[in-house]
Amino acid sequence: MRRSGIYPGTFDPITNGHLDLIRRWRAVFDRVVVAVARNPQKGPLYPAKERLAMARDAVGGDPGIEVVLFDELLIDFARKHGCIAILRGLRAVSDFEYELQIALTNRQMHPEIETIFLAPSIHYIYLSSSIVKEIASYGGPVSALVPPGVEKRLRATFCKRTASRNLKMKGSAR
Ligand code: ADP
Repeated sequence: MRRSGIYPGTFDPITNGHLDLIRRWRAVFDRVVVAVARNPQKGPLYPAKERLAMARDAVGGDPGIEVVLFDELLIDFARKHGCIAILRGLRAVSDFEYELQIALTNRQMHPEIETIFLAPSIHYIYLSSSIVKEIASYGGPVSALVPPGVEKRLRATFCKRTASRNLKMKGSAR
């Protein structure tokens, strides 16, 4: 039997922490479905299609890893895709309470689908998409934190923003 697990997230954008977990799960599951949530309520920096494209590019050509968009109740989406487990990552204590609540709620709805938590490499235990965006917004180095395609995309995003901010400041100084 092929074992499939689903790894949902906003991936705004995908980081080396996400990729570290995907690699570890791939060693255990025959198929890992990376599910990019549209999640407009989180006010993501990148539209869903761009987050999907960055994630696809980052995971490479492994046929055992699929990257898809989703916009429905996760547990229903997981069942439709034949997944036996929801895969989540745990950073330092910050993730625990929220993750436990979601995992137990999902179990109540569909007890046959388990939620499995994994710790990332120690190098990524404090890494989040928000921290990456904050560093990049000030022109700081993110090459050790995200794949090269994402680094390029972040640089382009924040170069444009800095340029238009500078232009506005110049205008208001006149
Ligand atoms: P969400 O909007 O669901 O929090 P994210 O894309 O931020 O989406 O994260 C998806 C999952 O990956 C979550 O389970 C989160 O805890 C986990 N995760 C993200 N970054 C890391 C990391 N550096 N180490 C471990 N888990 C992580």
